[in-house]
Amino acid sequence: MIVMKFGGTSVKDTDSLTNVAEIVAQHIDNKPLVVLSAGAGVTDTLINIARKAAATDIQSALENVATLRERHFATAKTLLKGEYLNTVLQAFTKQFEELDMLIKGVSILQELTPRVLDHFMSFGEQWSCLLLEQKLLQYGNKAGWIDSREVLITDNDFKNATPLFDVIENRVRQYIFPLIQKSTIVVTQGFIGATQDGITTTIGRGGSDYSAAIIGSLLEAREIQIWTDVSGVLTANPGMVPDARPVREMTFNEAAELAYFGATVLHPSTILPAISKKIPVRVLNSNRPDDEGTLITANDVHGKRTVQPNGDDVIKSIAHRTGITVIRIQSTRMLMAHGFLAKVFEIFARHKKSVDVIATSEVGISLTVDDQLNIDRIANELDDIADVSVLPEKAVISIVGEHLKKVLGIAGRAFTALGNAGVNVELISHGGSEINLTFVISEDQVKDALPALHSEFFSKTTKSEGREIST
Ligand code: ADP
Ligand code: ASP
Ligand code: MG
Repeated sequence: MIVMKFGGTSVKDTDSLTNVAEIVAQHIDNKPLVVLSAGAGVTDTLINIARKAAATDIQSALENVATLRERHFATAKTLLKGEYLNTVLQAFTKQFEELDMLIKGVSILQELTPRVLDHFMSFGEQWSCLLLEQKLLQYGNKAGWIDSREVLITDNDFKNATPLFDVIENRVRQYIFPLIQKSTIVVTQGFIGATQDGITTTIGRGGSDYSAAIIGSLLEAREIQIWTDVSGVLTANPGMVPDARPVREMTFNEAAELAYFGATVLHPSTILPAISKKIPVRVLNSNRPDDEGTLITANDVHGKRTVQPNGDDVIKSIAHRTGITVIRIQSTRMLMAHGFLAKVFEIFARHKKSVDVIATSEVGISLTVDDQLNIDRIANELDDIADVSVLPEKAVISIVGEHLKKVLGIAGRAFTALGNAGVNVELISHGGSEINLTFVISEDQVKDALPALHSEFFSKTTKSEGREIST
């Protein structure tokens, strides 16, 4: 069997849902299980509605719901007919009534807890599933929607719940496996789960990829397919680098690193369940289903052959993430002293703050964090042991490829290209990992840095010299 996950743009309207139904039907022999996101923009709208309700802006919240209602009813009416349409309209009517009631409840309480927000967010995926399930049935397929809240059981850390794999494994066996065996196309929501008591949870924004990978790994799928609006993982974010192109193959490590450092095409947790069962992940374009896409596997092509001397085929992609804050900690007490770093990291740990990029010198440490939460408190505590500066509006750029370190000259080429483009590099981390060269620049220079790096490593016809070193 295979898992096919379709993201928001792939299920956004009648044409895209029809297209998805056709793609799924073409894979019928592979026994597909389909994981769906909410239509593009729907989750964001639901969050806005919830916030407006809590701020007693009930009029505006209800208007937004009306827009969502019109959109979904209109899609149903052009996508479906007869009994299939009626089934969906009946379900939609009930769900939208529930949403109206929720808005009123939240506006009375004037409080939006994470638990209630998860409930708001859970509608979008249900709407997509209902529409596709009925479309598949109307086409004459055997199909059934399994509510992910029966299967994807999580803890109660609302908005960012952790899946409980042991429980999920049993539920998958109980609810999903029998249907797959009977060749029924199972449709289920990504992103949405429930606690063991049945309270709705979500597993983090963009989490449908993760849902697909969890279910795929527990079903020991032959392949997990992530269908989106680009033809695979590209050599850079296409929004910043228009001539970015698909990478044919990459390793789990490379994909995980890229996702972590900002390539939104994959949720950073997606790869983990796939790694544990060595299940290939394929990223495909639902608008161009015949494109090859990107195949992500445990196989490392360079494990079998030597890397090219110029290292160009070693680099797979360049990721970037904005909204980063650098914290610079300087103290002469660090010089020749032991325990200083431990004290620094103890403060971060106590505030549950994860640190991403680190560089140290004799008398200082610079590190990055990816949001502003608790930064003031951390800085205050650090102030007792060192001079601290907090520098917001930074970006992390990461050049990713297995065996990057085996090729001489890559860092030189990267920093020369950046220098020529007038980009100032503020912090460098290289060597912590075999597979990335990571550095920090100012956020407003990303637009210059990415095209310069992409052109250096992916577009140049004359390549500068680099020598392979043996390790
Ligand atoms: P979906 O809704 O299908 O989950 P996402 O918006 O989460 O889609 O991810 C797809 C988007 O990721 C692309 O449209 C693209 O703009 C962005 N993206 C950023 N970096 C990359 C990259 N390296 N390769 C491909 N897409 C990328
Ligand atoms: N709909 C959810 C979101 O927008 C999950 C997803 O699309 O993966 O975050
Ligand atoms: Mg996504």
